[in-house]
Amino acid sequence: MAKKLVTIVVPMYNEEPMVPHFLAKIAEIIKENVDYDFEVVAVNDGSRDKTLELLYGFQKKYPFLRVVNLSRNFGHEAAVAAGLSVAKGDAIIPIDADLQDPPELIKPMLALFEEGFEVVNARRASRKEDAWIKRYTALKFYKVIDKLSGKVRIPQNVGHYRLISRRVLDEVLKLPESNRVFRVEVPYVGFKTAEVAFVRPKREHGKTHYNMKSMIDLAINAITITSTKPLNIVFKFAMWIGIFLGLSSVTQLVLFILDVTNVLPIPFLNHGIWLVINISLLLTTVLLLCLSLLAIYLGKTFSETQKRPFYVIESIKEPK
Ligand code: UDP
Ligand code: MG
Repeated sequence: MAKKLVTIVVPMYNEEPMVPHFLAKIAEIIKENVDYDFEVVAVNDGSRDKTLELLYGFQKKYPFLRVVNLSRNFGHEAAVAAGLSVAKGDAIIPIDADLQDPPELIKPMLALFEEGFEVVNARRASRKEDAWIKRYTALKFYKVIDKLSGKVRIPQNVGHYRLISRRVLDEVLKLPESNRVFRVEVPYVGFKTAEVAFVRPKREHGKTHYNMKSMIDLAINAITITSTKPLNIVFKFAMWIGIFLGLSSVTQLVLFILDVTNVLPIPFLNHGIWLVINISLLLTTVLLLCLSLLAIYLGKTFSETQKRPFYVIESIKEPK
């Protein structure tokens, strides 16, 4: 019987120091899992260092290595999507190049795949190694996403690293959006899912490419492709402000009447003016918030109707 093919998809952006370590480690894992054939799809995401040249060089030594070269830097999510689009495997595993996703998990993942699971998530058991700010924002991120996603359960602390079957990948590739967020697309597609847990080690060489801005971008993308519920917030704001405004107007009217009929002395009116100014400021803030929320969705609609590709593959070099 022909062996099943496993595709490992690895995005690489300025990973020069990691390339040899990563490939050596993967070669080890491949040797250990003789029951499968492997291909490694390395996606060079517009690196400015020697990552691409190194990869081409290693294709002689590692005949399992396919190299996809993007025409510029598109970002982590796009690089993974590009790799997935050319994957030929029966099982597909996206993984980071920095060995923060331990390749040792591939074996237990494959075992679960053989048991009939179409998705095997690699969940980070703890985030001790993260700074408190990343830990906190990640916790909130997964909570919010899970709450917004309705019937779709988004697993906590699962990033790209997971195994998906050919079937699941085909369904993911059918999703029409051009703003892709893999970690919410896989649970959206569904299928029988299992999980392995791991403690994420520190990056061995090079440094993280994620900063606050890219994390916020990821969160906004993930939320806006998951749900339109945040739009309801506009309505809630409007309702509460409406009630508030009603109460305040009545109070003002009463004070005004008390004042002109001389039941109560004047100084109250100054307070009234001050209050009105504050309310109008508050209203402006809320309006702006609502407007920016609408703007985010409008932006999404715009880019989706634009139908521009999420990535551009410059070339694919197969091993000889
Ligand atoms: N990466 C990429 N394009 C980018 C940024 C990152 O392909 O613009 C790759 C990077 O080479 C690595 C993976 O995405 O293989 C995860 O990046 P990183 O380790 O910087 O993220 P972190 O582990 O800090 O979240
Ligand atoms: Mg990393």
